[in-house]
Amino acid sequence: MAQTLEAPQMKANVDRQWQLFIDGEMVAGAGTRDLIDPATGKVLCKAPEADKTQVEKAIKAARKAFDHGPWPRMSALERASMLNKLADAIDANADELAELETLNGGKPLRETQYDIADSAYVFRYYAGLVNKPSGQSIEVPAPSVTTVVREPIGVCGQIVPWNYPLLMAAWKLAPALAAGNTCVLKPSEFTPLTVLRLAEIIKEIGFPEGVVNIVAGAGPAVGQPIAESLLVDKIAFTGSVKTGKLIAQSALTNLKKVTLELGGKSPMVVFDDFDVDVAVDYALFAIYCNAGQVCSAGSRMVVDAKIYDSFIKKMAQRAEQIVVGPGMQDGTEMGPLVSKSQYDRVLEYIARGKKEGARLVTGGEALKVEGHENGYYIKPTIFADVKRDMAIVQEEIFGPVVVVQKFESEEEAIELANDSVYGLAAAVFTNDITRAHRVVKALRAGITWVNAYHNTYTECPWGGYKQSGWGRELGTFGLEAYTEVKQININLDPQPVGWFENRNN
Ligand code: NAD
Repeated sequence: MAQTLEAPQMKANVDRQWQLFIDGEMVAGAGTRDLIDPATGKVLCKAPEADKTQVEKAIKAARKAFDHGPWPRMSALERASMLNKLADAIDANADELAELETLNGGKPLRETQYDIADSAYVFRYYAGLVNKPSGQSIEVPAPSVTTVVREPIGVCGQIVPWNYPLLMAAWKLAPALAAGNTCVLKPSEFTPLTVLRLAEIIKEIGFPEGVVNIVAGAGPAVGQPIAESLLVDKIAFTGSVKTGKLIAQSALTNLKKVTLELGGKSPMVVFDDFDVDVAVDYALFAIYCNAGQVCSAGSRMVVDAKIYDSFIKKMAQRAEQIVVGPGMQDGTEMGPLVSKSQYDRVLEYIARGKKEGARLVTGGEALKVEGHENGYYIKPTIFADVKRDMAIVQEEIFGPVVVVQKFESEEEAIELANDSVYGLAAAVFTNDITRAHRVVKALRAGITWVNAYHNTYTECPWGGYKQSGWGRELGTFGLEAYTEVKQININLDPQPVGWFENRNN
């Protein structure tokens, strides 16, 4: 019998005063916004929102902390020790953070528990990276000792989306702080709670004031001033392509450094030599994990004509068995969509797919969950017999909707897979080792898998080709993205240059 976790069993206290974090202090927002529980459609609590003055104060605090504070000047090992304390504190508060994430964003607890553990690991990983060899020593012709070092960039603006609220914040804060930068981070206006809780933890641990500032609120009101500010040296953004382009334009004010992690329409290519049941199992995970609200979701199945029909039949049978319900309920396998606007958007795409003539195999409508009738639930949906130029094939839906495309040859599989303005992730399923190598090399995407999907390693670079973004996060690449490169030349034999004749003698 399914059970919903409720107070007093719950660790998370949602109905309390939530605050921004500016210059080392927790402060009330100039305004507030009602947060909606996506499982019920009802108001969950009020979240603080910063106004322009508070955003400016946060930026100035980060500027001061970078220009005059201890953080960039302390040893890398001291910074690492603080990051390790933060990782430990995230672990110690993991149950509470996971519940907050589920209540605020709707994803099942089993997913948010994983995300919180992953967030702690990201801080630990970057704490461990700071004392590893970096930089270069270069032989140059002059009597010079020449080295190349990496230094922090300065004040980093960081703007994150709602689909992995704490984890996306960790991907940004951990490498930035490890490198000695100071930060002004904005969570999504839909899901600020875990990041606001993280701010309290950061304060408790005793990070120097101004090193981390958290300002919540809407994109244009809070995010844009950060992206435009002349006092900010770098902007790191994760979100949609549309907003990413706006951010890149805003960053032109002072040509700040920009990294963008944007959307995707990622293909999963399945050849007929691979076990269909296993491929279907991966396909379900690829698209329905987090209700399809994953930038790297496998939203296009590109399937060998020889197994096309059986693949679709088996995938539909399995999709119909997925337990959709509130994230806090035991046994829920897929939660609601994050917000009413996202729910409406996905239903519009479904209607468009039907209108454009795609064959609806299963799903294709909202789902009423007993006792949670106003929640944002949508049935796992499959469209087949699609055409390449259909909106549901080309555009990122960001919901539990997958299209299945058919191919006759390896060349056609590659062509279909690459037929996208996006290039975030891609996978190929085959038992033919030479074909696996050929196809994976031909896929135009930053993250690729052979016979796997969604494995994400903090140690490996994350980011996309084409319009899926600029630059990479995670791994050593993620740390480099928060550094400037400086060459230092020390002349061991200072003599007059003699370029201009000395006429005084
Ligand atoms: P979004 O672009 O609507 O919003 C992302 C963030 O930008 C939010 O915090 C929002 O408030 C802020 N924002 C909005 N307008 C802004 C503006 N004018 N100036 C500054 N900030 C602004 O995206 P979303 O709906 O929150 O997230 C979903 C998108 O994120 C999807 O496209 C998904 O693919 C992408 N995503 C990408 C990755 C990746 O690593 N590539 C990871 C997660 C999500």
